[in-house]
Amino acid sequence: MPARLNKKSTLAQLGEFGFIEWIKKNTTVSGSVIKGIGDDAAVIALTEKKRILLTTDMLLEDVHFTLKMPIGKIGYKAIAVNISDIAAMGGVPKYILVSLGVPARTRARWIFDLYQAMHQTALKFGTCLVGGDTIRSDKTIINIAMMGESQKDKIIFRSGARPQDKIFVTGKLGNSFKSGRHLSFTPRVKESQYLVKYFKPTAMIDVSDGLLGDLGHILQESHVSAILNENKIPRQPSATLENALYDGEDFELLFTLSALDSQRLRKIKTPFSFYPIGEIIKGTGQIFLRNEKGVLRNYCPKSYTHF
Ligand SMILES: [Mg+2]
Repeated sequence: MPARLNKKSTLAQLGEFGFIEWIKKNTTVSGSVIKGIGDDAAVIALTEKKRILLTTDMLLEDVHFTLKMPIGKIGYKAIAVNISDIAAMGGVPKYILVSLGVPARTRARWIFDLYQAMHQTALKFGTCLVGGDTIRSDKTIINIAMMGESQKDKIIFRSGARPQDKIFVTGKLGNSFKSGRHLSFTPRVKESQYLVKYFKPTAMIDVSDGLLGDLGHILQESHVSAILNENKIPRQPSATLENALYDGEDFELLFTLSALDSQRLRKIKTPFSFYPIGEIIKGTGQIFLRNEKGVLRNYCPKSYTHF
């Protein structure tokens, strides 16, 4: 337990990231674990060259969705957020376990429709549902665990960004909740596969907590800082700069490329949108925003936290 906490301390005081730090310090992993906690997915060595990726995500009624939302969209989102995490590692999503907590009064039709939506979404992205668990609970909980795969040399961690690398994002940011896009976004699997096939991204993450928050994770894991060009950050219609910087759940990929790879990407025609938004500099996790006049402001990489 960290020094500033005592026996009566709550999770709210510890914080989500404090809790994750505690788990990291108090657990050990076996030799085949390449990456445990601290990235978009865990990475396990299956053979000399083959890697398995594991990720999981939980959605809770009235926190992440309400029963009034269209059931198809809830099912879609539950699967798509996990696919996005596999894409953020440069991996190919493969198999899905679905665990549900539901009140006994839940209509069977609702569950069937939820499964149909998840099944269709899984198929759409080349994956399939292979098992899970169902329990009774006071509120509806949907937990998805996903397995993906990758070749050893194609995996992209958060920790590889180096000074002079350029920073890119795969799409426009901001207003995801207001516009309802958080329920219908396309996880960037194709973009990710294109990048790992033709380039060598040095770090990658999906934007779930907000641009500054998720860039903060890359900077922290890579031990570097960053400058973002304010007017280069692509924004969704009617999104302000603040929306683009802080809103969560855009599920675009945020990645870094060496200066050489970056030049190559900007020169060739690609079937996708890759927006250059800044560069990595030496430092300790700070983010600076450069306006049109070249003035730099120091920004705080705050992001959504669950407690
Ligand atoms: Mg992620």
